[in-house]
Amino acid sequence: MSRNPHYIKMINSNRWKLLRAKKLQNNPVCEVCEANNRSTLATEVHHIVPVESVSHELGMRQLMFDYNNLQSLCHSCHSEIHRCAFSHSKEAVQANNKRMTERFADKFLKPSNGV
Ligand SMILES: [Zn+2]
Ligand SMILES: [Zn+2]
Repeated sequence: MSRNPHYIKMINSNRWKLLRAKKLQNNPVCEVCEANNRSTLATEVHHIVPVESVSHELGMRQLMFDYNNLQSLCHSCHSEIHRCAFSHSKEAVQANNKRMTERFADKFLKPSNGV
C-alpha cells in the first residue's frame, strides 16, 4: 500500500471510484483467470503500469486515470501480481506476464503425474 499523499488522494477520489466501477462493469471477470480459462469474478482493479512508477503528480494522475492502464482482477490474482512485482517498471510487468504464461504452460500443457 502506498503512502504517497498524491496517490492516497487519487485513490480516494470520486473520479477513481467511478472509473473503477466502470472498469469492473465492463470487465466483470478477472482478466488473469480468464486468460487461464477460469471464470472468477473480478473484485479489484489493478494498474498495469504502477501509478508510482513516476514520481511527479501529473504523471501519476495520467496513469491512475488511464482506462487502458486498468486490469480487472480477483483478489488472489491481484495479491499474486503485487507479491511478484520485484520492481515498479514496465519491464517487471512484462516479465511477470511472461512468467504467468510459463506457469500456465507448466500446469496445463505438460503431462501430469496424476497428483
Ligand atoms: Zn484471478
Ligand atoms: Zn494492483
